[in-house]
Amino acid sequence: MIITKVEALHLRLPEVKEVADGTQDCLIVRVETDNGLTGLGEVVSCSYVARAVIEAPRSAPFRHGLAEIVTGMDATDIDGIREAMIFGTAWYGPGGVARQAMSGIDMALWDIRGKAEGKPVRKLLSENAVDSVPAYASVLWPERPELVGESARAFLEQGYRAVKYGWAPMGPDADVDEALVASARDALGDGVDLMVDAGRAWNAETALGRVERFAPYNVFWLEEPLHPFDVAGYRELSEHSSIPIAGGEAMTLVEEYADLLQNGKIHFVQPDLGRVGGISGGLAIEALAKEAGARAVPHAFGTGILLSASANWAAVSDQPLTEYTRAPSPLAQNLAQHEMVFNDGELHLSDAPGLAVSLNEDVVNQYRIV
Ligand SMILES: [Mg+2]
Repeated sequence: MIITKVEALHLRLPEVKEVADGTQDCLIVRVETDNGLTGLGEVVSCSYVARAVIEAPRSAPFRHGLAEIVTGMDATDIDGIREAMIFGTAWYGPGGVARQAMSGIDMALWDIRGKAEGKPVRKLLSENAVDSVPAYASVLWPERPELVGESARAFLEQGYRAVKYGWAPMGPDADVDEALVASARDALGDGVDLMVDAGRAWNAETALGRVERFAPYNVFWLEEPLHPFDVAGYRELSEHSSIPIAGGEAMTLVEEYADLLQNGKIHFVQPDLGRVGGISGGLAIEALAKEAGARAVPHAFGTGILLSASANWAAVSDQPLTEYTRAPSPLAQNLAQHEMVFNDGELHLSDAPGLAVSLNEDVVNQYRIV
């Protein structure tokens, strides 16, 4: 089964604001093969740059575009294609945007393999994969603590058993930060897990102060309180925090995750399958996390393609859980039609082959940047 075409679909809302919502634009990868099967993947990056990584022509050694590298290869040889992409981009890789762009192709290849074998991706990963995965609602903090209650009550009504709030206005003011967390806990009650994403706001010392302030509110994890690569800071924090520490969404290479897990000692590691080399990259990180006694939970703040890939990957975990963005962007909610059903706090996965996602062509036509 030969790859005949790799297409990068770049979509963007007409107005993009400088807020921590990565669903205002997206980069989808569509891989076609000579037997008619196609696969979909998603890249989480600066979409303009990642698109160039996919579309660039062949050049001097090790500085080729990904589409040119993989076209003509056997779509079922996912490992061989990964090696070829790493080899062919070595001049500007192996991490960062090069690895992020590879992620979309890897995901699409798993989708194709599932369709070829007639199995959902999770069953390719393990026959013991579960059919439903707990999913936590994930949104940005409302603008003020007084607005958190209404949002949290809506999630309760929809059946969520875990909710994450993050980023601004959390950060500069300890009183506001505590009021945000207190409002969320108050509205959610005691039976729902509450995750807090600090959006890289502090150093280790300030973060430990916030941990003390947040301690009464039973926070499930405190995410990215520090600069993502401050491994020494994460170690200090993880060793002294009464709240489990989560991080890792910004990293791309397995070596970076090994450092964060072994030296940073974090409790939850959050690979984004649209950044770490797709499902294949995620498998290596899951194994590392297990070895380090940490738990891997996917970062998934994108379209239904990333959500399906993340849920299928999480379905083989000992303690499955996935992020489920509730960002209002039509790219997050309407672009990719998936067959998963959410109820009672869980995503019930589809038994259809591959990732079981398709693109809504009306949404593609409306937002695509050509
Ligand atoms: Mg985060």
